[in-house]
Amino acid sequence: MSFSHFKLNDAILKAISDAGYSTPTPIQEKAIPIVLSGKDVIAAAQTGTGKTASFVLPLLQRLNNEQNKRPKHIRALILTPTRELAEQVHRNVVKYAIHTNISSLAVYGGVDSEPQKDALIDGVDILVATPGRLLDLAYQRSIRFGDLEALVLDEADRMLDMGFSDELDKVLDRLPTHRQTLLFSATLSSHIHSLAEVAVHNAVEVSVAQNKETAPKIKQYLIPVDKDMKSALLSHLITEHEWTQALIFIQTKHGAAKLVTQLAKRGIAAEAFHSGRSQAVRTQLLADFKTGKLAFLVATGIAARGIDIDELPRVVNYDLPDEPDDYIHRIGRTGRAGATGEAVSLVSKDDFRRLCDIETKLNHLIQREPLEAFTPRKPLPVSILNYVPKRANKMRADSRRNNKRPQVESAKKTANRKPRSSDNPWGK
Ligand code: AMP
Repeated sequence: MSFSHFKLNDAILKAISDAGYSTPTPIQEKAIPIVLSGKDVIAAAQTGTGKTASFVLPLLQRLNNEQNKRPKHIRALILTPTRELAEQVHRNVVKYAIHTNISSLAVYGGVDSEPQKDALIDGVDILVATPGRLLDLAYQRSIRFGDLEALVLDEADRMLDMGFSDELDKVLDRLPTHRQTLLFSATLSSHIHSLAEVAVHNAVEVSVAQNKETAPKIKQYLIPVDKDMKSALLSHLITEHEWTQALIFIQTKHGAAKLVTQLAKRGIAAEAFHSGRSQAVRTQLLADFKTGKLAFLVATGIAARGIDIDELPRVVNYDLPDEPDDYIHRIGRTGRAGATGEAVSLVSKDDFRRLCDIETKLNHLIQREPLEAFTPRKPLPVSILNYVPKRANKMRADSRRNNKRPQVESAKKTANRKPRSSDNPWGK
């Protein structure tokens, strides 16, 4: 089969030929005609299958009807879990739209939002966005959804894994109900089907054979350990599990320097990456880490924000971050572009509060993989979603007595959320 079979317009066919594609991939063969027909789609397709073109090409055809854009309005929205994927998808949109007059833009967090707001002023045909930044822009009235014709949820399973389910609900609430929705996901789990229930209507389900080699996968797990045993555990994992590379996140500069010394004593070469080191040294360390010359980089969360690497085999949370969003950002650096990735957290009893906050944000518990030799003397309590510390419980009781609204966000969430049997796989 050739692309001419789909009756795409000449501008799109020319871009396809410029890209050097001669035949559609299986997902393109199946999805393009359905998207062109205007129906909703649920597609099981992974990175590397040509899935991006399978929704971008027919959307370009459907949008190319000379309709004038209104200021701040967008006509198609593609949601992605990470800024790296947003950029990658947007590069594809630009490539396929090059001979059309369709405009596009990518917006994501971690960068100044002012240029994004300016770029939205005249309206944009196709917007590629991460959920958090999209909502920020919507709250600031920099974007309008009244003319939205199509929504794509790209790597929807990854968005749910990364804890974006609340953000997705909020985005869906703001969109016109009369729209075409395309949901792409590597896996079609029960969570994806629940999302599909609210997001798509009478969708046609398509799937292509899973290519294990290109399956994007992040394995998230934690190992309970005492605080003073973390460096011994990390050395054990590096040597016994033959880790080749890891970005290790730690709380403080002092802690980073100490850990590098402790690893060196065990024959493991690592470098500390924090704001106390000169910019020249940091640039060199990063270059060495990217080429693989340096295997282990121990970074403080703040310094690591500037690290632009997203295809790591493994990230380690030596300390859990204070902010759940930082955890999500950290795990988003692994398991990209078809690679498998691991996000390992070394969690002691002191980290419990932070763990519960992260698990609440993710809306699932992180799998525990205890190692017998490192069984903590101070056990890590069983996690609870929507954990409310005792002090917050007391505030809630006080505010109820005073007949006021509770001030604690997590307490409010607990009250509203029904307990789920799947919340606690340990059944305690
Ligand atoms: P994706 O799964 O969308 O990330 O695409 C994976 C890669 O396949 C990208 O580098 C695309 O440029 C490429 N690609 C997409 N469609 C085709 C096609 N029909 N023929 C050859 N390469 C393609």
